[in-house]
Amino acid sequence: MAENSVKQSTFRDKVATVDQEGKRIWMFPQKPAGKFYTARKLATIGYLIVFFGLPFVKYNGHPIFLLNVLERRFILFGQIFWPQDFFIFAIGMALSIVFIALFTVVFGRVFCGWVCPQTIFMEMIFRRIEYWIEGDGPEQKMLARAPWDAKKIAKKVSKWVLFWVVSFIIANTFLAYLIGVDELKKMAIEPLSKNIGTFTSLAFFTTIFFFVYLWLREQVCTVICPYGRMQGVLLDKDTVIVSYDYKRGETRGKFHKNEERAIGDCIDCAQCVKVCPTGIDIRNGTQLECINCTACIDACNKMMDAVGLPPNLIRYASENSIAKKRPWVFTWRMKAYSMVMCVLLGILIWLLATRSDVGVTILRVPGQLYQEWPNNQMSNLYTYKLLNKTFKDKEVTLRPENFNGEIKLVGENKFVIPKNGYAVGTMFIYINSEQVKDRKTVLKIGVYEGNEKISNINTSFLGPFSSK
Ligand code: SF4
Ligand code: SF4
Repeated sequence: MAENSVKQSTFRDKVATVDQEGKRIWMFPQKPAGKFYTARKLATIGYLIVFFGLPFVKYNGHPIFLLNVLERRFILFGQIFWPQDFFIFAIGMALSIVFIALFTVVFGRVFCGWVCPQTIFMEMIFRRIEYWIEGDGPEQKMLARAPWDAKKIAKKVSKWVLFWVVSFIIANTFLAYLIGVDELKKMAIEPLSKNIGTFTSLAFFTTIFFFVYLWLREQVCTVICPYGRMQGVLLDKDTVIVSYDYKRGETRGKFHKNEERAIGDCIDCAQCVKVCPTGIDIRNGTQLECINCTACIDACNKMMDAVGLPPNLIRYASENSIAKKRPWVFTWRMKAYSMVMCVLLGILIWLLATRSDVGVTILRVPGQLYQEWPNNQMSNLYTYKLLNKTFKDKEVTLRPENFNGEIKLVGENKFVIPKNGYAVGTMFIYINSEQVKDRKTVLKIGVYEGNEKISNINTSFLGPFSSK
């Protein structure tokens, strides 16, 4: 217990993976096994099918998911979005942040354990390769300390090669999300010299992933990830997290065969610590290093089963449910986040529902004044940019809505907007000078496809100072 007391008082003074001299302590967690690990394996299979399969899924010959940041073209669920849909992105982003905050307030860091790509790839792919090649945690530790003989070199090189191959596949998948799987296939068969930039980025990102999963590992979650650092402000005593039931477990003590247990149920076997990939002792309470991977739940349940004590000494539970035996409550904080989320969701749905297939910008050419023509006509010169957010070419017309006049293109005779592209050019708007009541008159223009109005746009018409 004396040693425990020391641990209790000092565990918050440093990160579990750094020693007193500030050197990295390498983690060799034991392989988890149990109900939760099996569930996570199944969840991972589904996750990987979606992650690696999504770039291949097409609708009407187009990817349903594309995030082409370089060309600023985005396809989400088969719909094309442009940077001009900034408001939708901004509201979507705000909604995601509030959702993550709400989810974290209710369920803690459950996202990290079950959904975060870093944990999924690290714990469920790279760590499993390591177990397969180098053995369980203690064997890995022995191998790390062993001299570089032929056996060690063979194991390490095999591991590095496999790590590199998986990193290469992940980097290719990310690239497929960026440029699309067809473009990626095209580049793969073209000469290297033609796509030197893309191949350099591919090599760069493969190396980054390789470095992250071979060397950086749990440090991403415990030191780098900003979401992990936010736990201190998001969690409260009603948040359901992976928790040790100290009321039931303490006072901890070794188990003796056939004993009538007079102390707490924790048999101080340290199995929960041995399986922890971030090297913490969950019995010390909530810690920012805990990624809610559930390995300690499985390990403890196995021990409880072995000594004939009830399971779930470590389980998903809130502090209040352990300390006060209080059932889970939907707190005012959760209600407030939910309300904000509903408002943002409403705005997002409205923006998506009213979103037009064609984006229109019409601006007067800077530095140009009005022009006067016979028959009391005046004109202004404009630039236009028409965006087509669909996969079909569109021919549109612009029609005056609140004025009598004419819209004439310069050098073109119709507005044809290529699919998933845009048309730019200049045009004149002619109107009778009697309609120009102000220095700047607001003109409303309708965008029509055939006879169907698909959008409205306002612009201004510059007139003489004295025309009022
Ligand atoms: S304390 Fe348990 S749930 Fe948290 S990271 Fe360690 S093993 Fe995973
Ligand atoms: S695995 Fe369970 S019994 Fe063993 S030390 Fe951890 S909490 Fe105690």
